[in-house]
Amino acid sequence: MIFKSINPYTLETFLEHQLDSDNQVDRKLSLANSAYLKWKSTPFEHRSECLMKAASIFRRDKEIVAQMITAEMGKIIGESRAEVEKSASNLEFYAQNAASYLEDTVVDMGLYKSVISYDAIGTVFAIMPWNYPIWQVLRYVAPCLMSGNTTILKHAPNVLGCAKLIEKIFLEAGIPEGVFQNVFIDVPQVERVIAHDSIQLVTLTGSEMAGSSVASLAGKHIKKSILELGGSDAFIVLADANIEKAVQVAVNSRMMNAGQACICAKRFIVEEAVSEEFTQLFQQKISQLSQGNPLDENTNLGPLARIDLANQLKNQLNESINQGANLIFGGKQDNCNFTPTLVTNVSENNPVFQQESFGPLAAITSCKNQTEAVQMANNHRYGLATAIWTADLEKAYQLARQIESGNVFVNSLVRSDSRISFGGVKKSGYGRELGILGIRELTNVKSIIIE
Ligand code: NAP
Repeated sequence: MIFKSINPYTLETFLEHQLDSDNQVDRKLSLANSAYLKWKSTPFEHRSECLMKAASIFRRDKEIVAQMITAEMGKIIGESRAEVEKSASNLEFYAQNAASYLEDTVVDMGLYKSVISYDAIGTVFAIMPWNYPIWQVLRYVAPCLMSGNTTILKHAPNVLGCAKLIEKIFLEAGIPEGVFQNVFIDVPQVERVIAHDSIQLVTLTGSEMAGSSVASLAGKHIKKSILELGGSDAFIVLADANIEKAVQVAVNSRMMNAGQACICAKRFIVEEAVSEEFTQLFQQKISQLSQGNPLDENTNLGPLARIDLANQLKNQLNESINQGANLIFGGKQDNCNFTPTLVTNVSENNPVFQQESFGPLAAITSCKNQTEAVQMANNHRYGLATAIWTADLEKAYQLARQIESGNVFVNSLVRSDSRISFGGVKKSGYGRELGILGIRELTNVKSIIIE
């Protein structure tokens, strides 16, 4: 069996990747363990120099990496370049901040010394998705390596070209062999890795189903797990909001990465008084999007990453229309290409409200007032991120406190940022990435008490 990189726009297979045998996997795990014993004892300054060097190589090779992202999963080239930039910045951020983030926390117990230390934990096994093939990896890798851990990555099979570039750049940056390694394995081989003694923690970014399966295995083998799963983020627009600006950000938030981001706005919950205005402006803006070749600088909506994903979205749309949603715009599919689509009259029982929609499909639901808006936003199995649009910032803060999600943004685009924690509640997962919590999550939090 081999994995293939298939360009979703041209449908050409342009790379093939051999699977690792069980013996190869075992050798990589042993190497990760021996590398860990040395890497964890290196000073922060050395790790920091390695990550800064890696960041500079990502910037030097930005075009090569961006072209690979676009070829493998269809992201428009400008967004691919921005992804490489953001990933390089995350390496620099942790290179500069890890030492202070991991300083002991002193707890006053009236003793000679009582502190919490944040030590390396071992080898981290990461399972990552294709939608941000560089960012999702560097988001966990930067704090992981700065903590003194080593890591083994099972990337999604359609972006193994990106996975190979990451490993190559890390080696060139002077990060020793074994500190970061790819494994090219299929799902049945995952337990072999999780069960291995060198693995102390498993982090997965992906779907709810994958998360549930991997967390079960982690539980079985008593390994800590971090799950960053799906979302069906609410975008609440209250009547006093700046509608023009809200629509602009709403379209961006739904259409970025062709709608294939966990934190894309998916459910637009709009107060009745402004619902028609919001819908009209939204339709106007998406009708101006230029769809096509993701390598063309003028394209602002590329293909979906795989045909099965486009088919799945089409089925979800048809089912939603059958159950009462009004198709206002778009709804057409041609292989991986899916036109920007808008549906209204979406009830809370409708599939496009209840499930995650992973593509350029926006669903608008009207609400009577802010209380109903919050109820609707919370009426969901997922709880990743929520946007609230209103002119009243104090009211926004009070509403934000009532929202059941890991992140709330007021009057701005929901996004991840190296400086502040990111993660979900409910079926969106558990554990936090980024910021100070993101690095401590990857450590052995140890209490040291000296009488
Ligand atoms: P996916 O199908 O779950 O795949 C993600 C990764 O998990 C891939 O490497 C996949 O490998 C692996 N995987 C799938 N089933 C597995 C299993 N049973 N055991 C072990 N590994 C398994 O998800 P996707 O379609 O690539 O990504 C989209 C999903 O990820 C969406 O739900 C999105 O919201 C979520 N996501 C969440 C975040 C976040 O930060 N919360 C960020 C990005 C994406 P195979 O392909 O080989 O199965």
